[in-house]
Amino acid sequence: MRLNEQPLLTAAQIEARIAEIAREISDRYAGRDPVLVAVLKGAAIFAADLMRRLTVPACLDFIRARSYAGTESQGRVRITFLPEHSLEGRHVIVVEDILDTGRTTSAVLDCIRQQNPASLVLCTLLDKPARRVVPVKADYTGFRIDNLFVVGYGLDYDERYRHFPDIRTLEE
Ligand code: 5GP
Ligand code: MG
Repeated sequence: MRLNEQPLLTAAQIEARIAEIAREISDRYAGRDPVLVAVLKGAAIFAADLMRRLTVPACLDFIRARSYAGTESQGRVRITFLPEHSLEGRHVIVVEDILDTGRTTSAVLDCIRQQNPASLVLCTLLDKPARRVVPVKADYTGFRIDNLFVVGYGLDYDERYRHFPDIRTLEE
């Protein structure tokens, strides 16, 4: 695998887009206290930056779903960690790093729906619509990207590269 030195998305681009999304979310949830449910581990960094830009008193919780080994989707999704607090009657914003086939996110959304939240929306930093197998649409999308494998800003390749402040592509 070869890591591209040239970022696909720079830290400045990411920061500016997150500020825009945070404004939209803050407007929509004015007067309410939504719960951000970040999907571990990839979305941790996005959720942290997004949350600090919100002007509404959001809570933070986490869910974990596992579906990937290396770059190949196994097609199966297991929820391995659940939000600590009850989401019943809460306004839930699921925060994802990337929408690929849609399997992971769809399993996460199904799991959260079972808790009867007052409302449920999806906010993803990246979307690869060309790869979709399960129909999932995000309410907030940072960037639509081509069918590339990306790392950085929380996204890993076998646990590496999450610390990059920008997003880069990894090629065969
Ligand atoms: P899906 O279930 O939508 O196919 O896959 C979603 C998960 O696969 C993401 O949460 C992420 O963990 C992983 N994934 C999908 N595409 C990429 C990618 O381009 N880069 C990295 N690092 N992970 C990806
Ligand atoms: Mg993920």
